[in-house]
Order: sequence, then structure tokens, then C-alpha cells
Amino acid sequence: MASESVFELQRLSHVYVNDKGASLAVENVQLHIAQGEFISLVGPSGCGKTTLLSLLAGLLRPTTGKVLFRGAEVKAPSPKVGYMLQQDYLYPWRSIRDNAAIGLEIAGGKSNRAMAAVDALLVEVGLVGAGRRYPHELSGGMRQRVALARTLATEPEVLLLDEPFSALDLHIKLQLEDLVHGLLKRLGKTAILVTHDLSEAVAMSDRILVLAPNPGRISHELAIPEHVRLLSPMEARKHPDFQELFEQLWRELELGGDGKGRGRDDETTEPG
Ligand code: ADP
Ligand code: MG
Repeated sequence: MASESVFELQRLSHVYVNDKGASLAVENVQLHIAQGEFISLVGPSGCGKTTLLSLLAGLLRPTTGKVLFRGAEVKAPSPKVGYMLQQDYLYPWRSIRDNAAIGLEIAGGKSNRAMAAVDALLVEVGLVGAGRRYPHELSGGMRQRVALARTLATEPEVLLLDEPFSALDLHIKLQLEDLVHGLLKRLGKTAILVTHDLSEAVAMSDRILVLAPNPGRISHELAIPEHVRLLSPMEARKHPDFQELFEQLWRELELGGDGKGRGRDDETTEPG
């Protein structure tokens, strides 16, 4: 079946079953994600953000409904979909270059040409000359740059980003937001970012989906207007309309999709 969407989620639900019973983590999610779109998922802890990414990645099979990737049902993980997490999971005994190449190695593609591409990617992510160093020699921000190069090395069409900046100091996080946004837009990649940080979502996204918990579902969608969308995250944060967009998103999260206010002390704006 032909599809213009990169991803299409059709009435997607997921139930976790374990010895404590069954729990509905994601209910009836419908969504189209277009080529090149940058989407953020925001919502309180436990509302199903990671579950949704796992369903998109083919790491989990939905209980009901379907995930289509370029029109074909997702049944298993694919190298076309890359995943980047809060923790970098670099191997301490491997050099930066060999860490960045690990996905290629698993895919059987560690040729000289592929390694040259890894070296070029390390330059792209701002790690000039770091290829022979080891993870323990690098800061948290630099390690996430390696993780980004590793994710891009296998040339995925889509990147799933599960809070990749939330453990970083603010100024490092702002630098990485600009790097990731610029690089993915330039390469024409589609991205789905999970974040607790509402300003990050507004600064980076074309479209933001607010999820509500129990069961996890999309309660609101906020499209970022083009004049803000076209800016880099750093520039977007300085735009006069930024604060109003942030407040709109804040209000939607407070409503929580059920009309009941949520407290201002919850964790929707803090990493967690
Ligand atoms: P988020 O990423 O938004 O914090 P998750 O997708 O991790 O949320 O979790 C959604 C819901 O599913 C939560 O209630 C969580 O407790 C539950 N859950 C997540 N993973 C599992 C699992 N492996 N087994 C059982 N329940 C799970
Ligand atoms: Mg999560």
C-alpha cells in the first residue's frame, strides 16, 4: 500500500501483561508523520511515550492496531529507524571511532568507505580529532555527540530520540539541540523526540503531541507556526512568540486531557 507518511499509526493500543496483571499503556493512537517532520511527544511520566517509541521501532508489537513504516507494517526493528537514548551506552573498551562504527559492524558494513563516513560524521557532530580517544576521556555532552554519530552512521531515515539531552547541563543541552536540529533538517531526516522540557519541544519541533496518562493517549496537538519553525532552536527561544507557544503547551499539559488541572509541581518541565 502506498503512503505519503513515513509513519502511520492506526488505532494503536498496547497492553503490558505481567505477573501483576494487565495494564493499558497506550490507547487508540492515530497519527501520520510526514517525511522530514520533527515531532515531539510531551506528557507526564508514565503516559506511554517510551512505549510509543518502542512500537514505532518495532521493539514491541502492538496489542491492537498497526504501525506502518512507508506503507508496510512494522514487525521487527529496522536499520532505517535509529534510536537514541538518554544514556549513551558507549563501550568503555572501544575507541570513539569504533563506538561510532558499531551499528555498521553489526550490519556487516565496516569497510574502509564506511569508516571514512564515520570519520566524516564525527567531524559533523563536532568531535574533530576525538576518534582515537575513549569514552571515559569525554564529557557527557561529547559522549552524546558520539551516540548521535553512531545512530546516524547506519543512515537511518528516521531518528527516535528518547530524552537524549535531559542528563546534560543547560548550555551543553542548548548546543546539542542546535546541532541535532540543524543536522537532521539538513539531512532531511524525520525525527520523533520525547522530552520533559516544554521549551525544548517548542524550540525544536514542527509539531508537538501532548499525551495524557491512564491510559496513554494523544490529548492535544500543537503545530508550531512556520516563522518559528524555520529558526534554529536557539533563535526560536529568542523569538517574541516563543513565550506564548510555551504557555499554550503548558496549559494543555495542565489540563491533562481530562479537564482536571494538574499541579504545577509535577515533573512535566523537569528531566526525570
Ligand atoms: P513514559 O515513557 O511516558 O514515562 P512508559 O511508556 O515508559 O511511559 O510507560 C507507560 C505505562 O506503561 C506506565 O504505566 C508504565 O508503568 C507501564 N510500563 C512500561 N513498561 C512496562 C513493562 N515492561 N511492563 C509493564 N508495564 C510497563
Ligand atoms: Mg519514558
